[in-house]
Amino acid sequence: MLYSGGRLVVKFGGTSVRDDFGEAVTFVSRLWDENEVAVVVSAIKGVTDALLKFSSTGEGFEWIEKVHRDFAKKYGIPFEVFIGPLRELKKLSREDFPSFEAYRDHVLSYGEWLSGLAFAEALRREGIQVELFEPWEIIETDGNFGNARVDITKTSQNLKVVEEALERGRVTVIPGFVGSYNGLRTTLGREGSDYTAAVLGKGLNAKAVLIMSSVDGIYTADPRRVVSARLIPFVSYDELYVASKAGMKAIHHGAIDVVRGIPIIFGRTRNWSIGTIAGYESSSLPILVHKVNGEEAVITAVGVSEIPGFETESGSERGIPWARIEVSTSRLGSTLNRLHLLLVGGRVNLPRTLSIVHERRGVSANNV
Ligand code: ASP
Ligand code: MG
Repeated sequence: MLYSGGRLVVKFGGTSVRDDFGEAVTFVSRLWDENEVAVVVSAIKGVTDALLKFSSTGEGFEWIEKVHRDFAKKYGIPFEVFIGPLRELKKLSREDFPSFEAYRDHVLSYGEWLSGLAFAEALRREGIQVELFEPWEIIETDGNFGNARVDITKTSQNLKVVEEALERGRVTVIPGFVGSYNGLRTTLGREGSDYTAAVLGKGLNAKAVLIMSSVDGIYTADPRRVVSARLIPFVSYDELYVASKAGMKAIHHGAIDVVRGIPIIFGRTRNWSIGTIAGYESSSLPILVHKVNGEEAVITAVGVSEIPGFETESGSERGIPWARIEVSTSRLGSTLNRLHLLLVGGRVNLPRTLSIVHERRGVSANNV
């Protein structure tokens, strides 16, 4: 167990909510045995895209409703939990908002809100006392619709109520991705639930922020494309920042500076495995990140200043060197594998679990 007796923020991504919801709920209930737990949830995978379409075309409501109906059935949550907000969503009208952007962000807020309702309900069914918070009452932003920045000072004040609930032994559930400005809901940019988790980690002075998804942690390259990709036990905040900016999807890059100083633990919801800790230490392994733009792809090797035998553009940010090449998308897979062999292939064999090191960090992950 994560047997720290501290305060944890645990964020579940949209794929976890959709596919591994039961395991996410039991994981939280086990963590809660020994910790104060603040849960952050994403919308069910696909729902944000559907809401986006709904806001601009008025189409696709039935699909959103169906996804939640199927979800309720699959995980034994009464569909009644979703009925009120779904009705509200259907009735929203563009005319009631000062701008299209304000309307759109309001529509988008329902994805995370529905997930939050589901998570709170599932925990209650486990006999756990839960408090679900409306994120627009807690997270205050700069009002930049679609990509708002959080006002940490104001938000930290608002977080007092969450803190009190945690101290009373409640699991708190806070839907991700959403905040507000002058009473209007604002979203934090795509993948913004990580940002919410980071803000909570900071504002609640958590011992760690767990980012739970469908992969074990951070790899030296995308494991779906590079078979020999290795899980990286320790990654530094700066490596993570540079890799995220270059296109790595593990965490919203705006979240990293917010949470600096607090360990970020990356893990997989299914089987509760934990693969990477981000902090001040580093395993000093290169990270190959790629970004596809149509026919062209860009590969960035983070932690490397040159790639022997390749013509690269190179640079360094925050003390982390990087080297970059362009390839045609059709050759992305083979190039990634070749580079991986070259840059990572011959390095020492690393253990695939971190249990001993976790204890030294004050967070034991044994038998998680
Ligand atoms: N649901 C939002 C998105 O799909 C935010 C998130 O999942 O982090 O971008
Ligand atoms: Mg993500």
